[in-house]
Amino acid sequence: MTTEICAVNSDSLAAAKKILQGGGVVAFPTETVYGLGGDARNDEAVQRIYQVKGRPSDNPLIVHIHSEFDLSSLVYDTPYAGRLRQAFLPGPLTLVYKSKNNVSKLVSCGLDTLAIRVPAHKGAQEFLRYVDMPIAAPSANLSKHISPVSAEHVYSDLNGKIPLILDGGICSGGIESTVCDVTGEFPVVLREGLVSKEMIESVAGKCEVYKFKEGEQARSPGMRYKHYAPRCATRLFEAGQIEEAKECFAENHRIGKKVYVLCEDRFKSNFPSDYVLNLGRTEYEIAANLYAELRKGEAVADLIIAIKPEKKDGIMAGVLNRLSKACANE
Ligand code: AMP
Ligand code: MG
Repeated sequence: MTTEICAVNSDSLAAAKKILQGGGVVAFPTETVYGLGGDARNDEAVQRIYQVKGRPSDNPLIVHIHSEFDLSSLVYDTPYAGRLRQAFLPGPLTLVYKSKNNVSKLVSCGLDTLAIRVPAHKGAQEFLRYVDMPIAAPSANLSKHISPVSAEHVYSDLNGKIPLILDGGICSGGIESTVCDVTGEFPVVLREGLVSKEMIESVAGKCEVYKFKEGEQARSPGMRYKHYAPRCATRLFEAGQIEEAKECFAENHRIGKKVYVLCEDRFKSNFPSDYVLNLGRTEYEIAANLYAELRKGEAVADLIIAIKPEKKDGIMAGVLNRLSKACANE
């Protein structure tokens, strides 16, 4: 199969709709990362998504809809969820509701809930409006690899496996959406992201972050898996361990390893500039640059030394979660 990359326009949208109607899958841009979408009502299409990515079949998918799509056709609502939608949607927040079971059972892997997201990205909204169907979509990368934030990243993982990538440029957000369960008395964050716990709390009054305990049945099955990993060795250091990171760099550099350092701008002067993968200065820059710099790094490095950013709360909680999973010390 040849994989075409096309800008989002009337021709490529018509081609995408035809593919989806036939049970196929297409990649599309969002403000977080690129998605690999199929008709959520079609078992065959949903199965194809898992197969193309090599995704474990017990890791449920998020359904994407446009702003005017009838949410009540898919899920049961909760009073405070409306306030969250008002405050943050369209945007990088996925809400998990009780499902009305009107999509393929494979989407939620047998759970009685359904995760729904309304992306803000202009190309994503155009795509979802044009096809006007609920689109099940995980990130458009091979399972366990770094999520894609450009059409080229999608191409390098899925070339030959999907017919079409809608190119909407570089994703401005950079990490996956916040996933928040709204089936209970108050919202519970299952995966941290660009809509932080603090932001949700300010609207809903109360919000907790779910902590997975070993041995317990995961409330969000995807959290069990190794994720977002570059295809080279990694070492992870705390912001307070710069001296150790410098030593690690020097040792590996001396023995001829191609070693690169992924860090925020303020730490870059500790390392030779040719070997720095710079995450930038602000929280939003760091989130937006994380996956692009990891992909750049894996293309040239034997070893990536990652240094955690200093700030830990707000949206940095999501960044730290991704960085820790990508660069876990094993
Ligand atoms: P990805 O599509 O790779 O961004 O991953 C989607 C995330 O949403 C995973 O962590 C899933 O476990 C989570 N998710 C999707 N649907 C549900 C659901 N019904 N209940 C809880 N978590 C979900
Ligand atoms: Mg993913």
